[in-house]
Amino acid sequence: MKEEYLHHLWKNKQIPFHQLKLVSGEDILIYDVGQYNKFESGPDFSNGKIKIGNVTWFGNIELHLKSSDWYHHNHQLDRAYDNVILHVVYTHDQNVFINNKAIPTIELKGLIPEIEEVLNKHEFPCSTFLDELDPIYLESMKEKAIIKRLNRRLLDINKYGDESNPKQVLYSLLAQAFGCKINAQPFQELTNRIPIKLIKKEQCFNVKTLILNVSGIGERELLDKNWIHLKSKYKLDTMSRHVWKHKGLRPKSFPEIRLLQFAEIVEKFDFDTSFVYLGSNELIKNIRSLLILSDKSIKISSAMIDLIIINCFVPFIWWYGNVKMNENIQEKSLDLLQFLNAEENHILKKWKAIGVNCINSYDSQSLLEIYNEFCTAKKCLFCEMGNKIIYK
Ligand code: SF4
Repeated sequence: MKEEYLHHLWKNKQIPFHQLKLVSGEDILIYDVGQYNKFESGPDFSNGKIKIGNVTWFGNIELHLKSSDWYHHNHQLDRAYDNVILHVVYTHDQNVFINNKAIPTIELKGLIPEIEEVLNKHEFPCSTFLDELDPIYLESMKEKAIIKRLNRRLLDINKYGDESNPKQVLYSLLAQAFGCKINAQPFQELTNRIPIKLIKKEQCFNVKTLILNVSGIGERELLDKNWIHLKSKYKLDTMSRHVWKHKGLRPKSFPEIRLLQFAEIVEKFDFDTSFVYLGSNELIKNIRSLLILSDKSIKISSAMIDLIIINCFVPFIWWYGNVKMNENIQEKSLDLLQFLNAEENHILKKWKAIGVNCINSYDSQSLLEIYNEFCTAKKCLFCEMGNKIIYK
């Protein structure tokens, strides 16, 4: 059990207050649990209001797993703890004093659910209760999870993305999406070596030749005169062909094919970001048509088109909306996901097995996030469903 768990129960008033007594045997009434000081130093809750006997007290409330933690945390040396009016502990193992006066203490052992037992029993502790649960809790959790996922992508993009150069951010994200997990890194490296500005500046040049040569995969083109000229003009270095991975990929997903597909998009797309202002229906049509290639021999499959939208356009629009502080733009990321087919993988099969199905990519992406960030981490306490089921 973690102290956070006690904080959570106290903050959300999920304690059987009517059964509480002080360890001294006196009656206690809790009028106000106080305000949670999650990020501040000092006692856990401030401005609490309690009544012991006939006296009403106002002040701070401190929570611990064991009462002896008061001394382990050295609160006796910190004046900020002098006006603690109540000590709430899971186990009372030692009397605690402020200025030689025992602090009124409540012991919660036996009064609150033993969460670990519930959590460790099943992979999805909530599964047996799902039928009884109002679907609104799952929907609310899905929204919370998808926003968490998109915000994590946003933080990643911020690590390399320059707000003043959104075209380069979009170009880099597009490249990484073409690389999928396995070749995302070399694709990103490629876009660092040949920025979009350079490509658009040298419009007369063959984009395909440039991309293939810098990638280190286009050996056939090495003697191209334009390439030799650009290589020396921009001091372009060729990547090692060994950075490109093939293992585990089907031939149609090999980097040679993905680079050709990427090059065709880069050639025809100006990376103008004004498309984010289109309505959602127009936006998805626009993006899909961009990803249809004229060279049918390297056609991008519809599953890959959806993946590119999920991994490039959805996070880009979320990031761009954040840069512009425009929630309406960010909303479109969520709308886009609803137009896309749900992915299929072993995690989504597990959800299906407990009766949770996906209609679109909004569903699948949010369920993947819930599973990876909450279920496997046993964070049911912070999940809307876990919270409702375990403490209903
Ligand atoms: S985190 Fe939520 S969805 Fe996952 S098992 Fe716990 S209660 Fe269920």
